[in-house]
Amino acid sequence: MIRYDCDRCGEAMSANDTNRYIAKLEVYAAASPIDVSIDDTKSAPSQLREVIEQLKNADPGEIEDKTYRSFRFDVCDNCRKHLIANPLQRNENAK
Ligand SMILES: [Zn+2]
Repeated sequence: MIRYDCDRCGEAMSANDTNRYIAKLEVYAAASPIDVSIDDTKSAPSQLREVIEQLKNADPGEIEDKTYRSFRFDVCDNCRKHLIANPLQRNENAK
């Protein structure tokens, strides 16, 4: 039998446990697509070389973190309630 532990509190759950939920989180860059005009293409080779140089020196993990990351968690019913009530786990006392 496959067992799961809640990724938030550690509670043990079975695969078909009615107390088991899956929480997914996606974080990705919010920038809109770049609108390129014909005039912009004149400077494109130099801009492209600049981007390539920046990428040569960049950390691949950091590039991935900045563009797209997804997470999947198994959570128990109690932790599901906490996540829905406060998805970003904001500290209400920090205001
Ligand atoms: Zn839990």
